[in-house]
Amino acid sequence: MSYPYEAPQSQSLFDRASVVTPGGVNSPVRAFRAVGGTPRFMVSGTGPYLTDADGREYVDLVCSWGPMILGHAHPAVIDAVQQAVTRGTSFGTPGQGEVELAEEIVARVAPVEQVRLVSSGTEATMSAIRLARGFTGRAKVIKFAGCYHGHVDALLAAAGSGVATFGLSDTPGVTGAQAGDTIVLPYNDLDAVRTAFAAHPGEIACVITEASPGNMGVVPPLPGFNKGLAELCRGNGALFISDEVMTGFRVSRAGWYGVEAAHEGWAPDLLTFGKVMGGGFPAAAFGGRADVMAHLAPAGPVYQAGTLSGNPVATAAGLAQLRGCTDEVYATVDRVAAEISGLVSDALGKEGVTHRLQTAGNMFSVFFTDEQVTNYDEARRQQAYRFNGFFHSMLSQGVYLPPSAYESWFVSASHDERAIERVAAALPAAARAAAEAQPTEGSK
Ligand SMILES: *Cc1c(COP(=O)(O)O)cnc(C)c1O
Repeated sequence: MSYPYEAPQSQSLFDRASVVTPGGVNSPVRAFRAVGGTPRFMVSGTGPYLTDADGREYVDLVCSWGPMILGHAHPAVIDAVQQAVTRGTSFGTPGQGEVELAEEIVARVAPVEQVRLVSSGTEATMSAIRLARGFTGRAKVIKFAGCYHGHVDALLAAAGSGVATFGLSDTPGVTGAQAGDTIVLPYNDLDAVRTAFAAHPGEIACVITEASPGNMGVVPPLPGFNKGLAELCRGNGALFISDEVMTGFRVSRAGWYGVEAAHEGWAPDLLTFGKVMGGGFPAAAFGGRADVMAHLAPAGPVYQAGTLSGNPVATAAGLAQLRGCTDEVYATVDRVAAEISGLVSDALGKEGVTHRLQTAGNMFSVFFTDEQVTNYDEARRQQAYRFNGFFHSMLSQGVYLPPSAYESWFVSASHDERAIERVAAALPAAARAAAEAQPTEGSK
């Protein structure tokens, strides 16, 4: 396909990057492999806007894949970082910022009695799985197709967007031994979970699930699914791990737990966090029941560690961001998400483009299909080729979307009327591009 305009500076940086870095990017989803064209190299961000190396401004609907819930370069976060950084950048000792960030998390999410800070969501899920295995003395883990939990070896089976985008069903480098104790089941299918527990009595350490999946596009849990998982885990002596790396502190003060579980009267045993809680820095966490967390070193025998865990600059950024995430901020983010997603759906509808808008709180994505999407197989049945024309039309008009049809879109509290109007103005042409898109060889 032809792209609406050139991006010479990004192209030049990408050419250099491709010499020294595999594929020119440090995380595969940043490449434009699925949609084609040259990834934009961003040089600055402020509020809802990003500016690329060619000086073009975009309304950002990715928000760093979730973290930037207050918008880019929020003054409170920048100020906290500047103050922290002048005091030194890493001490290799405990510090006050870690205590305060842990207290903030514990205060927000009721089932989190204790929390351990790490540096990435991947570390959080990897450590939570190890802890669950150590605590139960069992080996097997249940995960769901289309759920992504970071690039943990054992969890890179049917792992959603990054993998879905590239059509890889599996990844070389993960051995049979590493993935052999992973049981992959269809999402939203409690019967499959029941059957797996019956087939492996006393062997399943935990069930891990995205609290509400956003890594195969937005595919929320059907009513009762998460609660059913919690009950099946309890009944079978396994732990229930709710991965809130994406949803945590984004869809409510207490993440997806606050949206769903708190009202239904059940709780995960362990939860994992990342993205929003780092304020744009590498900070993540896992936590939950104190009796389970007590098994972690140095309190207990399950080893887990990190040179930069609880880094003072990262914790200062995370704390400033979480303190800025007030009820008012969540109300704004919810309203902006409803407004933008409504505009997208209207524009596609006007052009007669078959689509489903799926939402989970203030996360949303569009599937080019006419049926509700409840699992990964259904997600992959969409006409993903329509997204590529849509994406490039939006990009050429200054709106930056996730470069894949299998990703959640994210907005921030800084998306004001001017930003929303720019999205609205770009949508008619993009919807037309989606309507006119033709399947390419080999695509669906
Ligand atoms: C992003 C993500 C991760 C991995 O976090 P990283 O910080 O990229 O390692 C894990 N789980 C979910 C649900 C995520 O969205």
